[in-house]
Amino acid sequence: MLNLASLCFPDHEKSCFYCCPPIRDPEADPLDAIEEKQNLLRRNCKELQENLANPHEISGEECWGLGFLDDQERQAGCLLHPLRHQGRDLRHLTGYQFKCANALCREAQVFADLSEPEQSFCLSLCRGMDSFHYSSRRNPLMRLLAWDKEMVQIIICEHLEDAFKIQPTSKTDEIAKSSKMIQDCSLFIAKHELLWQKLDFHLDGYLALQITERKGFNFLSNNLDDYIQLRDNLISELNNNPALKITSGTCRIPAHKLKIPLSLSRLLKFGANLWELPNGCEKELQQQIEDKLTAFFV
Ligand code: SF4
Ligand code: SF4
Repeated sequence: MLNLASLCFPDHEKSCFYCCPPIRDPEADPLDAIEEKQNLLRRNCKELQENLANPHEISGEECWGLGFLDDQERQAGCLLHPLRHQGRDLRHLTGYQFKCANALCREAQVFADLSEPEQSFCLSLCRGMDSFHYSSRRNPLMRLLAWDKEMVQIIICEHLEDAFKIQPTSKTDEIAKSSKMIQDCSLFIAKHELLWQKLDFHLDGYLALQITERKGFNFLSNNLDDYIQLRDNLISELNNNPALKITSGTCRIPAHKLKIPLSLSRLLKFGANLWELPNGCEKELQQQIEDKLTAFFV
């Protein structure tokens, strides 16, 4: 069994295998046709020696190297990983060793940047999940981590502060403590699911963070319709701002290369469809957004 403390391998009860194979359809989810996948992982374990003797290139649909890593079928992962072969990396046999070895999703990167208590709170949201539910991008933790680190940190911190205020009176009462913990997780998910049900980190990552940083998550949640209106108005104003238009002779720059946060460049691209902007437009852009936010807070 692997023993790496990370989002990929959080404990001995489960693991994530979402990025296998790395050439997969990004829309495919481990919870789709779950029984078929369980059987496939079982079969891959059984047929491993045969496949090693007759290796073949994988497709985007499935990889013969993906299997259960323990007899209890708790963790799922790569049967060809060097940790299972005394340091020999057998992933090249599938044709995609480089991609396999370098797969690191956005969620894992955000998770790695959190403090230990924040990480352990995150993992508490997945208590009792098996590897299929854990790997799924419908898992609330994975949905939460799709937001930037700053947003994740603010909302965990706000939640823990609130939870601390209403600790159970008897600290020795283990049953009360554990049922409270489960209740806390459900409350946390219910309170924050608007992030993935009503909002989209591609569009809202920047603005929602600005609002949450200044006024707290409750403010965003209580003023959600107004916020959505603000975002949509801003997108249309950005589109109509002549200072952001490309004309012949404009020195242009891709949105992600501007000196602005990545989340703002996503709003420009996916919201306003501005993939290229005039070089040096950062000040104009941020002033326009700041004016809009100031008016929103009045
Ligand atoms: S999808 Fe992300 S968390 Fe899951 S195994 Fe791959 S890198 Fe790790
Ligand atoms: S070789 Fe291993 S890491 Fe690569 S896709 Fe297959 S199971 Fe995943």
